[in-house]
Amino acid sequence: MSAVPVEHVDELQAYAESVSGCTRCRLAQARTQVVFGAGNPDADLLFVGEAPGFHEDKQGLPFVGQAGKLLEKLLGQIGMTRDDVYIANTVMCRPPGNRNPGDDEIEACEPHLFKKIELVQPRVIATLGNFATKLLSGSQVGITRVHGQERETTIGGRTVLLYPLYHPAAALYTPTMLKVLETDFARLPELLGNALAPPPPPVELVPAPLAVEARAEQLGLF
Ligand code: URA
Repeated sequence: MSAVPVEHVDELQAYAESVSGCTRCRLAQARTQVVFGAGNPDADLLFVGEAPGFHEDKQGLPFVGQAGKLLEKLLGQIGMTRDDVYIANTVMCRPPGNRNPGDDEIEACEPHLFKKIELVQPRVIATLGNFATKLLSGSQVGITRVHGQERETTIGGRTVLLYPLYHPAAALYTPTMLKVLETDFARLPELLGNALAPPPPPVELVPAPLAVEARAEQLGLF
């Protein structure tokens, strides 16, 4: 991975600071703090979860509760850590009582998510669960039908590979779902490899060796 350009990190940091007092939606009223997102600002893989929960709201970091532990375990199974990836959510503030985020709240937070995507410039965006998947796919088709199916899409003017996954929180207590999540997760290195594959080198236009007859003719042998 290339060295992280300093201005790029600074820009993400500056953006995080600029939205730390966000009041674009009513979630601002009950939150402890904005959970902007965390991880490698130059990550090739960006996860989008649903919304901060109790622990995230207290610590100001995404996925630090039980679901986060599972996410870290799944990352470990493919040889990665949370420092290799960037983690964000559809909304940056905890919905009271961990209720689902409302459409209007997701819409209000969308520019912030898109800005993060624009600054991190991931190659693969893995959406965790229905909310992130529906938001970024622009479709109402649910996660049960689309999990594990990557597709190229344009987000904020960038072509990325969108890869829907079950939400780790849903897999915590459902072994069959966990198995599916593990299987889908196991494809991430391949998807990152494909998305990262450098373009094939330009074909070198070397003149083909002359056929024997043509060479002989050139030499005046016939
Ligand atoms: N679930 C989410 O979707 N996001 C978090 O940050 C934590 C749990």
